[in-house]
Amino acid sequence: MKFGTKAIHAGVQPDPTTGAIMTPIYQTSTYVQESPGKHKGYEYARTQNPTRDALQANLAALENGQHGLCFASGLGATDAILKLFKPGDEIIASSDLYGGTYRIMVRVFSEFGLTFRFVSLDDPANLKAALTDKTRMVWIETPTNPLLRIVDIAAIAQITKTRNIQLVVDNTFASPYLQNPLDLGADIVVHSVTKYIGGHSDTVMGAIITNDDETTNRLRFIQNACGAVPGPQDCFLALRGIKTLHVRMDRHCQNAQRVAEYLQKHPKVSQVYYPGLPNHPGHELAKKQMRGFGGMVSFELVGDSLPEAVRVMESFEVFSLGESLGGVESLCTHPASMTHASIPKAEREANGLKDTLIRLSVGIEDADDLIADLERAIG
Ligand SMILES: *Cc1c(COP(=O)(O)O)cnc(C)c1O
Repeated sequence: MKFGTKAIHAGVQPDPTTGAIMTPIYQTSTYVQESPGKHKGYEYARTQNPTRDALQANLAALENGQHGLCFASGLGATDAILKLFKPGDEIIASSDLYGGTYRIMVRVFSEFGLTFRFVSLDDPANLKAALTDKTRMVWIETPTNPLLRIVDIAAIAQITKTRNIQLVVDNTFASPYLQNPLDLGADIVVHSVTKYIGGHSDTVMGAIITNDDETTNRLRFIQNACGAVPGPQDCFLALRGIKTLHVRMDRHCQNAQRVAEYLQKHPKVSQVYYPGLPNHPGHELAKKQMRGFGGMVSFELVGDSLPEAVRVMESFEVFSLGESLGGVESLCTHPASMTHASIPKAEREANGLKDTLIRLSVGIEDADDLIADLERAIG
């Protein structure tokens, strides 16, 4: 089955009691048992819920994986993955990372004895140099947030596979429509469903997809034991969002390409970060491992003035200033003070993230209106 068909049908069956074509919202905390332990496969809603089951099966299919597990947020999913490890275990993460992922690693899990090292992984050779005999996991994002760098998933997987290290890919920016890390050798895919998968800025949720039975059993145990599960109403909204994922992503890609090309020609713009631009250092690799370049574009203004960047962000009329991304509406974010404020300034700057960087989540509005908004705001 191809992607658009899977998006609409995978994991979803007409409701067995009524034939309802849309998976019902099973808003229940528990299930009646016939006799102690004799039930229909559902005991308590933290452990199992039919609306969540449909979504988990659907997401697994979209990532070409065997198993899907949903969590109350993307970071809830990240938390579960980090709980696979033990004190003394070492994790290498790419240095250009979502701020919240950095925060849970450095401020929560290092307190429990996990060691984290942040390495620039756009060059896979850097990974080889950073590995030790304690390394148990490599965590990457690609495209990265907010600098849209491209990391070679297959090349990193080649290094981790031979050493029995788990490779986790945060596939939030690409979505399963544009990139399937499991096919490229990753062991675990994590998503903030909040973003493109949900797609309508109305739900916070996370997901994990894997092919490995043992990892899944452990993650399923953690999902139930630690309890960061999403509610059925949110699962319904995510399922509804997914039905148009492929259609939305095509438009996100088209609009972002137009916005990036417009910005690149603008005399007041000094730098544009978008993997769909031929001069982007990861362009060829993105063409190889992705089916499109996505909807995220970051840029800097000539002169690198923070007040001027702030003035532009305040001047938008169609782009709304806010955290998050991946919804149908266009958003603009100031990573240094918003999504990445939890990373110390010196570390941000060492990674190339300037205080003047503006990040756009290009929505699916009419591209002419988006360009006109940029023109008005940048001036
Ligand atoms: C938003 C985001 C997360 C965290 O997801 P939440 O649903 O907000 O908890 C993780 N990774 C990336 C790349 C994100 O953009």
